[in-house]
Amino acid sequence: MLVYQEKTQIKAELELRKVKGQVIGFVPTMGALHQGHLALVKQALNSNDIVVVSIFVNPTQFNNASDLEKYPRTFDSDIALLESLNEDRIMVYTPSVDDIYEGNLRSQKFDFDGLEREMEGKYRPGHFDGVATVVKRFFEIVNPDNAYFGEKDFQQLAIIKRMVNKNDIPVTIIGCKIHRESDGLAMSSRNARLTSEQRNAAPFIYAVLKEAKQEFASKSANEVVKWVEEQFKGHGILELEYFIIADEKTLRPIRNKTDKRRYRAFIAVYADDIRLIDNIALN
Ligand code: AMP
Repeated sequence: MLVYQEKTQIKAELELRKVKGQVIGFVPTMGALHQGHLALVKQALNSNDIVVVSIFVNPTQFNNASDLEKYPRTFDSDIALLESLNEDRIMVYTPSVDDIYEGNLRSQKFDFDGLEREMEGKYRPGHFDGVATVVKRFFEIVNPDNAYFGEKDFQQLAIIKRMVNKNDIPVTIIGCKIHRESDGLAMSSRNARLTSEQRNAAPFIYAVLKEAKQEFASKSANEVVKWVEEQFKGHGILELEYFIIADEKTLRPIRNKTDKRRYRAFIAVYADDIRLIDNIALN
């Protein structure tokens, strides 16, 4: 499998492939790969000749220094997992911070029409400027035909779509379903940091989301939010940061529901200092 550390080298190789008419797919990741990431790579392999997987823990999207420091890094097993999928059609790009930021470790400021101010944007200031900065940079280097993002980070997916639209970037963004453990917990690199007690408690998050979806059929958004907040009161292991029912298009919390709009519930929970997020479509 081809592994590149420098943008000039992967860019040159990809330009050659493009001249040959090969279709390029791209899956950006922060490594510590799990089956959720691999599902994205498999989907990309199905409709592209070459799939570029980036492994880069992007400093500018972390608003919390200790989260960045403790973020799991498992490069050797990441490579082994990708190799087990396909040795010939996957290229890995694992740049240094300097290869991406060229001595200027700062994010660009973006305007995503308010999408960036809701939920994760509110609780992780600067997060989406960091995400958009790095993804835009990657798009310039890789110049992919198709790029794959998980619905696990639904707000991020919406923001990337908006960025591509606003900047006329010639790439098709494809959203992929959330991959879950058999007990319902959304797969996440951060799950590896959970103690066994926290890991046993964590499926509660998706269980509550599923029940909230049922409640939403007959109750108001406000009532469902109150019910969920009640479920986490005095939980002991999981601490609710937010639970929000939002319009899928605007990501704004809703007041009244109508049949014409699509709604989704979003949740962020702490287990000690480990932050877990999840979401579910409500209608
Ligand atoms: P990350 O390495 O956490 O930045 O994730 C890289 C990509 O994989 C993002 O587009 C995520 O949304 C996606 N992803 C992470 N976990 C999952 C999951 N459980 N199911 C689907 N996609 C995921």
